Amino acid sequence: MMTDAFIGLGSNLKEPATQLARAVSALATLPDTVLVAQSPFYASRPVGPQDQPDFVNGAVWLRTSLTPHQLLDQLQRIEHKHGRERLRHWGPRTLDLDILIFGDQVLEDERLTVPHRELRNRDFALQPLLDLKADLALPDGTAVAELRSRCPDNGLRKLPPADYP
Ligand code: ATP
Ligand code: CA
Ligand code: CA
Repeated sequence: MMTDAFIGLGSNLKEPATQLARAVSALATLPDTVLVAQSPFYASRPVGPQDQPDFVNGAVWLRTSLTPHQLLDQLQRIEHKHGRERLRHWGPRTLDLDILIFGDQVLEDERLTVPHRELRNRDFALQPLLDLKADLALPDGTAVAELRSRCPDNGLRKLPPADYP
């Protein structure tokens, strides 16, 4: 059975859009999985100290026959392979891949909470989901559009496609 899964991508490395583009390529080649669509990328100002690069976030829509835990294994493999080089110890995160929504499944165990527990508080996750599927809803029926309209605005800026790697 194929399930529609939505993955959030984030980076605040020096060239975060490059990190995200590489991650999308890796996601497109996952086993037993097809990439349905990728969202535009968004920049948002960092929370806290301003002397660091903007964050870039996006989302992808996958259709997969992997289980949620198999998918998480694959996301963590991509994070380690493509993104988690550290420039210095305790350095900044270079690639973060989160399962935002996995079909109509609701999960909570020591490795995985689905839908993602912070989704409703994050415009940088909700907006790319809306771009992918305007009528997307959580398993409990709450429309993502409704969550987006209630979410605090953190100065999201859509990056022009010309800025993508
Ligand atoms: P946040 O949850 O606030 O986005 P984070 O992405 O920075 O935090 P990480 O250090 O990347 O946190 O991940 C910590 C752990 O979160 C992972 O090892 C994973 O087991 C767990 N986790 C729980 N739910 C999810 C999910 N929906 N997607 C990805 N990881 C998850
Ligand atoms: Ca995260
Ligand atoms: Ca994560």
